[in-house]
Amino acid sequence: MTSASTPLPHPIIGGSFTSPVAAGSGWPDDQAETTTEVATTPAEVAQLAAAASLAEATARSSVCRACPRLVAWREDVAVTKRASFADQPYWGRPVTGWGDPAAAILVLGLAPAANGGNRTGRVFTGDRSGDWVFAALHRLGLASQPISEHAGDGLALTGVRIVAAVRCAPPANKPTTAERDTCAPWLDREIQLLLPTLSTLVALGGFAWSAVLATLRRLGTQVPRPVPRFGHGAEVDLDTPEGRLRLLGCYHPSQQNTFTGRLTEDMLDDILRRAMAAPPDGG
Ligand code: SF4
Repeated sequence: MTSASTPLPHPIIGGSFTSPVAAGSGWPDDQAETTTEVATTPAEVAQLAAAASLAEATARSSVCRACPRLVAWREDVAVTKRASFADQPYWGRPVTGWGDPAAAILVLGLAPAANGGNRTGRVFTGDRSGDWVFAALHRLGLASQPISEHAGDGLALTGVRIVAAVRCAPPANKPTTAERDTCAPWLDREIQLLLPTLSTLVALGGFAWSAVLATLRRLGTQVPRPVPRFGHGAEVDLDTPEGRLRLLGCYHPSQQNTFTGRLTEDMLDDILRRAMAAPPDGG
């Protein structure tokens, strides 16, 4: 039986990795180093999120330990593993934003899946929801491959970045309000650093919709009152300190939504096509 102390090879690059993966140990796309500062409280998240660059903010967020319940869960899952992935090392750390660092489109999800992003270390990678997202991005020419199975597989996104509103896998896919708020400075800083190039945000589900509107308000954007409601196809144009930004709502590509036909491939493609069109003032 696999234990935490049994290093295993990465499915793409081989090598030898513990679960959770140690910072700076060579995992594909791991931006952290052994010296990267670790936040252990909400106050430290706020302090460390004020990083000078997206790369630094990404690295710092990837080693965060500020939510005790989520740290315990992500690491327990990493050690226990789903039986079908027992031969793989699990990332077991926060799953950061990933994709184009000068993106025009930012796609926002809720939180990583316990055996998806929490295993592969890449957002939306290794679970059925991610299969839908990456296939759609590829159909529209925004992703170099239709499948994202593991970090290190050569996939590249052009003009798009993906991020989760909460960076650690939560039990039952439900972060608490306190965990959402603790993680918010990472999202705030990521969006702030992307604002110069961003034109559109795509919120996959109501949780991401609310989280990103709260972020934009904290960043100085006038968000209408009452707050615009989430819906599939909902659209809001917002004036940020860096120009006009369009927010689009899209049903989350959860298995519940895709199996029942609530969200179809055409519906997802339509939203992404709208995201690719510039806001009215070209901001
Ligand atoms: S959810 Fe966010 S704030 Fe909480 S431990 Fe994970 S990265 Fe840190």
